Amino acid sequence: MTLPLDPAENLAALIRCPSVTPAEGGALTALANMLKPLGFSIERPVFSESGTPDIENLYARLSGDGPHLMFAGHTDVVPPGDESAWKHPPFSATIDNGEIYGRGAVDMKGGIACFAAAVARYSAEHGPFKGSISFLITGDEEGPAINGTVKLLEWAKARGERWDAAIVGEPTNPERLGDMIKIGRRGSVSGTIVVHGVQGHAAYPHLAENPVRGLVTLVEGLLDPLLDEGTQDFQPSNLEVTTIDVGNPATNVIPAKATASFNIRFNDSWSEETIMAEIHNRLDRAAATTRLRPGRETPINYELLWRDRPSPVFLTRDDKLIGTLSASIEAVTGRKPQLSTSGGTSDARFIKDYCPVVEFGLVGQTMHMVDERAALSDLEMLTRIYQRFLADFFA
Ligand SMILES: [Zn+2]
Repeated sequence: MTLPLDPAENLAALIRCPSVTPAEGGALTALANMLKPLGFSIERPVFSESGTPDIENLYARLSGDGPHLMFAGHTDVVPPGDESAWKHPPFSATIDNGEIYGRGAVDMKGGIACFAAAVARYSAEHGPFKGSISFLITGDEEGPAINGTVKLLEWAKARGERWDAAIVGEPTNPERLGDMIKIGRRGSVSGTIVVHGVQGHAAYPHLAENPVRGLVTLVEGLLDPLLDEGTQDFQPSNLEVTTIDVGNPATNVIPAKATASFNIRFNDSWSEETIMAEIHNRLDRAAATTRLRPGRETPINYELLWRDRPSPVFLTRDDKLIGTLSASIEAVTGRKPQLSTSGGTSDARFIKDYCPVVEFGLVGQTMHMVDERAALSDLEMLTRIYQRFLADFFA
């Protein structure tokens, strides 16, 4: 049996599987084929929920005495978009000028390929692990994320699995390998405001109630003042109005309702509950400051609908995990990584309820783009970083 020692070969095998969410595309089988010769036991639980596609996931476990390290990630990828715009076909894994092309090369089949190679090299050098390693891999990260990491964690926990630390192999480096470890993430909530008015003739406004005026007042109340100025570990919280919709094609009609949607990325000065309460307060305050037509003093009639599931904010404070990974990165790249909480949400927000978690993978510059690609030299360096981390973590 051949061991998956070469990260580029591992990555090529994964890229050739067209695993656009929710399709497994052969990617989990390819990963299982890498891990079996290393002694991993492999399970492929499928999770379902009405209204969402069934998703196949993978949990692989290598058992030994000592700490249990989880490597987490996803083999699903976003669609390639216009395939003719790619320099090389998106599922071909073509190597050109020291780079391997393909959808998922950096987000995040590359991270998985390197971690598998690191485990293989570590085993070849050190023999059996003084501890346990598991791969917790979902096929539902880029999609609705309902039948993926959340259920996989619950499933594994119900079988008695416990972890001491986790690394998520998402691409965390903005420009060069070694730039950045993510040690936390901001939270996210989204909502829609609906203002109800009374439809009427634009020339007879006393008979109508224009909801657009009310909506503008509410949106202004949402945006001012700033939510906060940032904290020691996080950038300032941010509220973006993402759309304002009236959908009124006529110039002589006052519309019946107007809506606006917003998304908030909040830092650790808030929780999901306190940020949502703050938004309710701001809207109520703005609704009470009636800036309607003179002679009409009705408060703004609005509803606030929260959308999707809010994501919590989190910050990992595990000096051993962060310190060991930082030192490994510095030893291989010569760069001291920045410890960051920037960017969007990731599956780390679910893992943090089970064990300390950090994220470190490839350079993210081409993720989700046409011509997504990873430098072969980065794959080799990331493998060495992971291998060094394994040596120190299990020392
Ligand atoms: Zn990803």
